[in-house]
Amino acid sequence: MSDLESLPGMTPKTVENLAKLNVTTIFDLLFHLPLRYHDRTRITNICDVAVNTEVQVIGHVYNAKVIFGRRRMMTATLLDDSGHITLRFFHFSKSQLKGLADGKRVLCFGEARLSRNKLEMVHPQYRILQDNESVVLPNCLEPVYPTTKGLQQKRLKSVIEKALQWADKNQCYFKDVLEGFEYTQVENIPTVNFSMLDMLKQVHKPLVNSDKQALIARKSPAQRRLIFDELLAHHLSIMQIRLRSDQRKGYEISPNQRLVKPFIKNLNFEMTRAQKNVLQEIIQDMNAQKPMMRLVQGDVGSGKTVVALIACLYAVENGYQATVMAPTELLAEQHYRYFSSQLLPLGVQVAWLSSGLPVKKKKEMLELIASGTASVVIGTHALFQEGVEFRNLALTVTDEQHRFGVQQRLQLSKKGTGDDIFPHQLTMTATPIPRTLAMSMYAHLDYSVIDELPPGRKPVTTVAIADTRREDVINRIKDACREGAQAYWVCSLIEESDALQSQAATETHAHLQVQLNELKIGLLHGRMKSAEKEQVMQDFIHKKIHVLVATTVIEVGVDVPNASLMIIENAERFGLAQLHQLRGRVGRGEKQSSCVLLYKTPLGDLAKKRLDALRNSTDGFELARIDLELRGPGEVLGTKQSGDMQMRMANLSKDMSLLPEVQKASRWLVENHPERIEIVLRRWLGKAVEYANA
Ligand code: ADP
Ligand code: MG
Repeated sequence: MSDLESLPGMTPKTVENLAKLNVTTIFDLLFHLPLRYHDRTRITNICDVAVNTEVQVIGHVYNAKVIFGRRRMMTATLLDDSGHITLRFFHFSKSQLKGLADGKRVLCFGEARLSRNKLEMVHPQYRILQDNESVVLPNCLEPVYPTTKGLQQKRLKSVIEKALQWADKNQCYFKDVLEGFEYTQVENIPTVNFSMLDMLKQVHKPLVNSDKQALIARKSPAQRRLIFDELLAHHLSIMQIRLRSDQRKGYEISPNQRLVKPFIKNLNFEMTRAQKNVLQEIIQDMNAQKPMMRLVQGDVGSGKTVVALIACLYAVENGYQATVMAPTELLAEQHYRYFSSQLLPLGVQVAWLSSGLPVKKKKEMLELIASGTASVVIGTHALFQEGVEFRNLALTVTDEQHRFGVQQRLQLSKKGTGDDIFPHQLTMTATPIPRTLAMSMYAHLDYSVIDELPPGRKPVTTVAIADTRREDVINRIKDACREGAQAYWVCSLIEESDALQSQAATETHAHLQVQLNELKIGLLHGRMKSAEKEQVMQDFIHKKIHVLVATTVIEVGVDVPNASLMIIENAERFGLAQLHQLRGRVGRGEKQSSCVLLYKTPLGDLAKKRLDALRNSTDGFELARIDLELRGPGEVLGTKQSGDMQMRMANLSKDMSLLPEVQKASRWLVENHPERIEIVLRRWLGKAVEYANA
């Protein structure tokens, strides 16, 4: 429909260059928007030129000459009736020098600045005017586009112009789908009938009197309407997932209590009110005719695992299979251990699947899964790879779901798909996100919160210590471990390769072994074989290891209640959410736990704020709020999440205030004009539409 090649004058070379800018369709080109603008719509008197602004002036040149100093350069003086300004060039040709003959009239555009108290322009764009030429000023601002090597601004401008001409002939794609909708909560947005193409033109070629500042800040009415439109498209595409899911059949699961009851009876703790409530919601969902789509959010240590397990048991006591997917092998193993220990006594078989599994073992597991002998299957993303067949999968649980992309989650849900019957989906996360954002990102999910920690938990005491005082910390570990405690020592080079991280851990391990020679020090990193990792974890659980030196492989989920001391090296390099997760590895038992944030001095401003926040709060929600302030939601959601939401103009962190109205508008569309949805999806998501439909 909108192949770039079909635009007049397009060449393979340009197509190739545009691809470097991620522009592969005409829509991409239309939404390739200016970074800033040149204002050539007016001429400024030299006496009125403001320093550090871009201006256009007309004057006569005098005294163009080459100066041989430390750096060779050409200068000239430009004079109008009101004053004068120096033009300065570091790169120039002989003919340029000749052209700027005394008295020539010149039209000159550039940024004015002050040098030694005198006004000048460095490398202005200029044109020598004919003797009695009258200058015709354009009536719109000139766009400056982000471009790439090999693609000149001028060329880019001309192909975008061609795209706009194409759009003129294809108005149908640019209808205002919200015609008739009454906005109530947003200001500064054009609401009367107009075409989205007009909005686009106002951004590509704003009229003379447009507010340039607003444009650059993406706050012009046209931009706001476009941003609104894009958020709407994304929201609708997510809602589509839900609408489609609601039309499907789900496995009907009723709580017959055959397994759940004995399980709960044998638990060595009483479930919290919050856990019970969430389970109530889950069972209601699973008892309905359609597949459950629920997100459970609960702070680290709030006890999500047991909730997942009981949900699985509901499926199993109804004769179905359930699966739990975890983002790391370590966490999957731990779940496997926990689930096995709890379920085998009830006669429920648990299978385990990860990519690290030996071929023979894997084959065995696949058979257990396919035959239905294994009722609960635990694993990593290996679970949704080809060749994994379930007999009757009725529930998928995704733990720490923020670590997975949408695509991965969708893939898993396809596993149990039979004749139009779909497994229930339960996703769990410890990453709290603001409600408005959650309602947009997860518009297709129902939302539960475990807003209470199990009783008796003592908040982890957190201190930040400069790593010059490493000795103190080591002594502290000595004391604590003598009294039966266990410690984690997390060392990591953030954003470095797995290999480098593992190396850092190995080195730290060797050092600590020497410094704490009476203690047993273990090592855990991503480069180790699964069996080795498992052995180390077992030794730690069984207290054969006092101090576990690890990379961030232990970041999520790991649960060893006896460990009560957490040392995080290079804490200044971690994000708040990650630090909170890491700290969440301790404080899981009755012991008073502590966390030491070791940092390298000098501490940057932002890092200081993060460490302070962590010292002052153990509440995941509070920390998420601060994190949001410090970084903005784009990042808080993590790369995987935001990667799911590739946006052209909108920016979730900056445009969050539009979301409630976007939600309203999208409901309005679904109810009143479902036929228009396609239009808005197509113009913003293009190819992504099919993906959203998956
Ligand atoms: P998370 O929500 O971080 O996944 P876990 O499910 O790993 O938390 O639970 C943390 C620890 O708390 C585990 O050791 C678990 O057995 C324990 N736990 C869970 N629920 C309760 C409860 N209601 N009372 C006491 N301990 C609990
Ligand atoms: Mg967990």
